[in-house]
Amino acid sequence: ETTDSVIAVQGLSKRYASGFEALKGVDLEIRRGEIFALLGPNGAGKTTLISIICGLVNASAGRVLVDGHDIVEDYRAARRQIGLVPQELTSDAFATVWNTVSFSRGLFGKRSDPAHIERVLRSLSLWDKRRSKMITLSGGMKRRVLIAKALAHEPQILFLDEPTAGVDVALRRDMWNVVRDLRASGVTVILTTHYIEEAEEMADRIGVINDGDIVLVEEKAALMRQLGRKRLTLHLQ
Ligand code: ATP
Repeated sequence: ETTDSVIAVQGLSKRYASGFEALKGVDLEIRRGEIFALLGPNGAGKTTLISIICGLVNASAGRVLVDGHDIVEDYRAARRQIGLVPQELTSDAFATVWNTVSFSRGLFGKRSDPAHIERVLRSLSLWDKRRSKMITLSGGMKRRVLIAKALAHEPQILFLDEPTAGVDVALRRDMWNVVRDLRASGVTVILTTHYIEEAEEMADRIGVINDGDIVLVEEKAALMRQLGRKRLTLHLQ
């Protein structure tokens, strides 16, 4: 129980209505200001874990504290601290970039702040696109807008669910830089991935999730020393 943990996950289990047990008693602490990569193969439970932490799905057991607020009992206070970029790139096709991002701020009950929206758009190299409609954007630009949207209400914590799935190499590098800039600005970043290279490239700490259990949490450098890239890659296949 370090005082500097911004998220505490305690004994989290999830059994879906189908009877499938997607999480089996997960404990996890996320430190303020770190980049944490949740690494695991398809179906390991990454999206389920993120969805519960963000209060979108109820756990079957256990609890989540976000900056000290219980995500279920104190949902509004907890949720205000969180920005989420989901795996699916959904948006209103005919909304402009500016409206997409600034509207999201309103959803969190925050007073409009054009200067903040401008800062976010500039930091993601979206300023020139502010009047473009979402439908006209490339996949990479759209991803950037969805990050901007998640940052519109000034959350302390940003979740990125598989930010580079199906993305080409150049855009992947681009996303990595965006994430590093975010950390430099003080945001805690939690991302899921099944690319070991991505976790290695970006994370301060890595948690390996497999079959509903977090089997390992380690400083990146220590993990790479202990396991070596080959063994970890094999483990995840
Ligand atoms: P991916 O990398 O494919 O996104 P993931 O690690 O995010 O995988 P989850 O999406 O959390 O994994 O899914 C974990 C397991 O739970 C999978 O076996 C999935 O089929 C199952 N699952 C997810 N949602 C439901 C649901 N609503 N009902 C039943 N089972 C589900």
